[in-house]
Amino acid sequence: MRKPIIAGNWKMNKTKAEALAFVEAVAQAIPSTDVVDAAVCVPTIYLDAMMTATAGTNLKIGAQNMHQKDAGAFTAETSPLMLVDLKVPYVVLGHSERRQYFGETDTTVNEKTLAAFAHGLTPIVCVGEYLEERENGTTNAVVEKQTLAALFGLTAEQVAQTVIAYEPVWAIGTGKVATNEQANETCGYIRQVIARVYGNEAAQAVRIQYGGSVTPDTIGALMSESDIDGALVGGASLVADSFLALLNGVN
Ligand code: PGA
Repeated sequence: MRKPIIAGNWKMNKTKAEALAFVEAVAQAIPSTDVVDAAVCVPTIYLDAMMTATAGTNLKIGAQNMHQKDAGAFTAETSPLMLVDLKVPYVVLGHSERRQYFGETDTTVNEKTLAAFAHGLTPIVCVGEYLEERENGTTNAVVEKQTLAALFGLTAEQVAQTVIAYEPVWAIGTGKVATNEQANETCGYIRQVIARVYGNEAAQAVRIQYGGSVTPDTIGALMSESDIDGALVGGASLVADSFLALLNGVN
């Protein structure tokens, strides 16, 4: 059985005081990790404070991006070693906003995914199609290409430990949620692709989240689908009560 994982993606939001208030409200009220893994992916500048504030709790912290190199002349970037130094367990890679606005490519996402495993970080690798791709029937081809490119060079064991977030770009921050069937069908297709290349064991183990306008009202039905193992949530993860409702809505 795959354990669900709910990850909040705060993007570029919150002051430090707001971030700390969120943690204070959430960390103690969080459901058992036997039921659901819970993480919030916070702005880099708050990682240190958030790791300290959540120490010993079931609320885990993630970064929203990292560079693929260990160190060097890459102004303003964050290296995997820095995340390891703070003991940050998760890192989101290849979010569509990184691909769209910051030149992230399948190649850089692959380099970063390999770097994550080289340093013992768990990557949350994002894939997803644009509206016109959904409409012209190329969704499966797009997510297959992105998934295989991101995972290229990983062992089957590493693939099994990866978290994949299927996020249709047209559903992110738009209030337009993919139907449960659409979301499940594409998550299931990603699992089939992984089975073909990395074997059935890895495919059955890999956790595939849905992301895109998920709310406490929609999480339950999404989670009842066979191939959806959690959610990557932007807007609805910003408020403590809403994030807790997402966690409690998992089953
Ligand atoms: P949203 O964002 O929940 O606000 O649509 C999801 C994401 O970008 O990960």
